[in-house]
Amino acid sequence: MTYPGIPPTNHRAVPVMTVGSAHLIMQVHIECTSCPVKRQAKLRLVEAKVFVPADAPHVGS
Ligand SMILES: [Zn+2]
Repeated sequence: MTYPGIPPTNHRAVPVMTVGSAHLIMQVHIECTSCPVKRQAKLRLVEAKVFVPADAPHVGS
């Protein structure tokens, strides 16, 4: 697991993602532009209705 302040080294999607870990991943991968796990986290938060992107058609971009 990675933590804020430490550059992420693993950008692969994970098998299980909780809403909590999705929040963490969004922070850790904040500077990633094209990142599978960030995309997965974003979708997870949308799914949980805790994060509604303004640019829904461009999720993950
Ligand atoms: Zn990333």
